[in-house]
Amino acid sequence: MVVERKDLFVGGIEAGGTKFVCAVGRAPEDVCRPENRTEFPTGDNPGQLISRVIDWFAEKQSREPLSAIGIASFGPVDLEKGSPRYGHITSTPKPGWANTDLVGPIQRGLGNIPVGFDTDVNGAGLGEYFWGNASGLEDFVYITIGTGIGAGGMARGQLLHGLVHPEMGHLRLPRVAGDEFPGVCPYHKDCWEGLCSGPAILKRAGTPAEKIPPDHPAWKYETQYIGYAIANIVCTLSPRRVIIGGSVRKAGQLGEEAFFHAVREHVQTTLNNYVVSPSLLGDGVHRYIVPPLLGDNAGVCGALALGQLECSIAEECREKVQLINY
Ligand code: ZN
Repeated sequence: MVVERKDLFVGGIEAGGTKFVCAVGRAPEDVCRPENRTEFPTGDNPGQLISRVIDWFAEKQSREPLSAIGIASFGPVDLEKGSPRYGHITSTPKPGWANTDLVGPIQRGLGNIPVGFDTDVNGAGLGEYFWGNASGLEDFVYITIGTGIGAGGMARGQLLHGLVHPEMGHLRLPRVAGDEFPGVCPYHKDCWEGLCSGPAILKRAGTPAEKIPPDHPAWKYETQYIGYAIANIVCTLSPRRVIIGGSVRKAGQLGEEAFFHAVREHVQTTLNNYVVSPSLLGDGVHRYIVPPLLGDNAGVCGALALGQLECSIAEECREKVQLINY
């Protein structure tokens, strides 16, 4: 029997620093239905939260068996299969969460079904590759800018993994002249995340991003630094598209369109026509740096995608599943 990817009924967990979004389904339209999704606050007691997550999926599983679960997690995480800490959140400063095993208890709690596990950004990137703005592209970068900054994506059709996983959110950037803001990263102060995450904007402007007036200098710094960072990413990874998700890109009173316009312009100015591609020159950049097509569901859809992908790798279903388009 051949099962196509789109027929696989799976679970997905978008494990974020603020909340865990859980869903079941086969495709993005399924996760829009309230009966197919729920949310739990992340809190500081992983054991208690994981039990609630397992109970929710077990109830869904009793109605229709899940082929797999995908977990797209905040990090840092251990993605090295065979490592004693595989499936763990490792060194996070988030209270209660350092060295937490996510994959183990969830897999055991749901009858040892296959569990796909990756970073939140690789997950969201895979979701955009299956159903969104990275469709048909084997080299792209997915960036999220929210509570923190992370980036993942694909090179040659493979999710970006390596020594650990990319940590582009902690790139060091040139400082904009006149900007004395010290930054908020506990490790590096003024790295990209330290300068541009939601908490950084709050500290810089004294008010959350959604309430900052459009002409406030905080937006000028924000979009300029994002422009520097994307220019660096273009120079190192040569992605065929860059997707920016997360809450900050909505840019409150400035608006998403003006935000993207400024970022694109800064990327072009920084690269200064050096990288020769129609995607980066002139109007091509409007299709090159874009928001996620899946919008706010990019993360949870990405988790579903990780579950479906795991079915092509897991021995128990490898022979019966043909992953169309992957
Ligand atoms: Zn940092």
